[in-house]
Amino acid sequence: MNASPADQRRLLEVAELDARIRQAEHARKNPPQAARIQELVGRRNELSHELSGRLGARDDLRAELARIESDVAVVDARSARDADRLAHTSNSKEAQGLESEIASLARRKSDLEDGELELMERLEQADASVAAQEALISETNAEGSTLSAEAKRVIAEATAAFDGATRDRAAIADKIAPELVALYDRLAARGVGAGLLTRGTCGGCNMVLSGTDMQKIRQSAADAVLNCPECGGILVRTEESGL
Ligand SMILES: [Zn+2]
Repeated sequence: MNASPADQRRLLEVAELDARIRQAEHARKNPPQAARIQELVGRRNELSHELSGRLGARDDLRAELARIESDVAVVDARSARDADRLAHTSNSKEAQGLESEIASLARRKSDLEDGELELMERLEQADASVAAQEALISETNAEGSTLSAEAKRVIAEATAAFDGATRDRAAIADKIAPELVALYDRLAARGVGAGLLTRGTCGGCNMVLSGTDMQKIRQSAADAVLNCPECGGILVRTEESGL
């Protein structure tokens, strides 16, 4: 194939833009924050699971405390009823029975109150343990939000770079003979599309070409489209090539 030396040179710009497009695409798909964000998602799940356990334990204590409070209320009501009966009875045997029951209710109430105090302490600890776990979750969430915002910024920048390079590439490719672009695209899809020849080295694969190959290149017409014998990419010659 033949193509003007100017068109061949433009392929180098296309190749450079293609490299930038690939880089931007990679950056867009792999923001550096992604790994830590994944870690935080896992940590948050673990912390939330632990929090559910702590909330459950606290609910159990609350229910136990409510049961004791209701038992105390029952004891109080019974005591008040007995005291009322005692105030109105003239039967000494009944009075004795009531006094004994009132005393036993007072002991029962005292036991219940001891249990209540102990439960209230345990409930306080349970509240603190829930609060500590919630604080850890908030910290994890805060770090996650910060990193997500950073990742979004990186992705937005990479997307802008991708779009800009894609537009530039289209504009340059439009100026090049379509057959040459098509050849470049076929080659680039497999590996090296085009490389600049400098000091006997192919810029596409960085291989030094043999003297025989260089001899052939020197003898080729300026508009001949040459391929690198090493990587197969289009070998672009300019005044920098030192031929
Ligand atoms: Zn090469």
